[in-house]
Amino acid sequence: MTTRNPATGETLETYETLDEAGIDRALDHAAAAYRDWRSTSYATRMTLLGKIADAFASNREKLARQTSLEMGKTYASALAEADKCVAAFRYYATRGAEFLGDTRIDLGGGKSATARWMPHGPVLAVMPWNFPLWQVVRFLAPTIMAGNVALLKHASISMGTARLMEEAVREAGAPEGLFQALMIGSKPVEAIIADDRVVAVTLTGSEGAGQAVAQAAGKALKKVVLELGGSDPFIVMPSADLDVAVEMAVKARIQNTGQSCICGKRMIVHRDIYADFRERFCDAMKAVTWGDPFDEKTDMGPLSSVEQRDTVLDQLAKLKAKGAKLLFGGEAVGERGAFMNAGVLVDVPVDDPIAHEELFGPVAMLFEASDAEDALRIANSVPFGLGSAVFTNDADEQALFADRIEAGMVAINQMLASAPEAPFGGIKRSGHGRELGPWGLHEFMNLKTIMRS
Ligand code: NAP
Repeated sequence: MTTRNPATGETLETYETLDEAGIDRALDHAAAAYRDWRSTSYATRMTLLGKIADAFASNREKLARQTSLEMGKTYASALAEADKCVAAFRYYATRGAEFLGDTRIDLGGGKSATARWMPHGPVLAVMPWNFPLWQVVRFLAPTIMAGNVALLKHASISMGTARLMEEAVREAGAPEGLFQALMIGSKPVEAIIADDRVVAVTLTGSEGAGQAVAQAAGKALKKVVLELGGSDPFIVMPSADLDVAVEMAVKARIQNTGQSCICGKRMIVHRDIYADFRERFCDAMKAVTWGDPFDEKTDMGPLSSVEQRDTVLDQLAKLKAKGAKLLFGGEAVGERGAFMNAGVLVDVPVDDPIAHEELFGPVAMLFEASDAEDALRIANSVPFGLGSAVFTNDADEQALFADRIEAGMVAINQMLASAPEAPFGGIKRSGHGRELGPWGLHEFMNLKTIMRS
């Protein structure tokens, strides 16, 4: 597997992929590590998590640099991502044990039961390139706390990042086999899921990959968590602070060069403020800079690859063919690399299937809504249900949107962002299951019932 710098097109590194025997050895290591790790105390697990947090903190520049080189995000945002990983490790390092207490259940007639969280075994994680540190840590930190063991199949373009993460975990003193980054493409994934040494699988990625992994998990009767794509609505109502709403809308849409699963992709604005919002939003989107991810003045680096940019350009062409109007931007730019400028689309045909696709690039769809019901209709018109954001200072509207937007998460008067403490996940075609907080910790544990009389 060869990685390439999407800002320059230059080859970064070539990795030798694991053959069948190599994968078999890795699974053996995982099984052996689990035999010991499952019986460690909560204190031992939390101590290790604290040391991993330290190792990530001391390697933050190295980790961040690698992710910027491999997938093009700005170095500043990569550093922030590394710091968020440190916070997640520290969260489980300090709070992990309190989420794993027994629950006593009174069964009547002098009988009782205890529900106890037990480890389950080695879990495979199939992860994407867009937040190549954070997506992995969302899975890894609770896996270690649970007494499970982690196997990572990272995106092919993030192999260097995967390797550095494995090194940081080892540097922290993790036992051999507790966390292994497998140098593999997607082909062997089905066989790994089917293997008896693996108990479950989690995937963060596209719908297509989700279907393939869920199918393999279904065939093997193993649990699967899916964190898939999204086309999040970003609703702005007349009572909102427009300055804040515009600033957040731009940030949401251009963050990570538009390649974030939970950032507002469809801006739905009430007609009373539509013209004002549109003018300010377009001005701010036109001012977004693109260029060298290591330059502090750059707002957006390149997309993760030329192929990814071509996918977005193709979607834009199809949208235009269906009547959508690209006001500006949304073009390939630069003499080399996978750069694209920010853009805004209007007149998007709400009910056309092409408008239901996730646009994984820095181009916003802008819709005008006649009232709150109309905003909800547009918001819920897509098959995804990951996140959402609503800007309104009207308490009734806040309650209405929080209740009726079909999504796993709703952010009010702020841009949606994940936090180690809060559950993260979606509904509809955005997947199922939750990561982070106690919920993410429990996903891959055996809740054992112990009956007594
Ligand atoms: P992707 O192409 O689906 O890849 C994700 C991972 O799945 C990669 O490791 C990939 O391996 C692997 N994969 C692809 N096809 C597979 C198959 N048939 N069987 C097994 N594994 C397979 O997604 P991406 O382009 O990297 O990431 C972008 C997508 O992820 C977007 O849709 C985004 O919204 C979604 N996402 C969701 C969340 C969330 O939390 N809900 C967070 C971030 C991203 P290779 O790289 O080797 O192909």
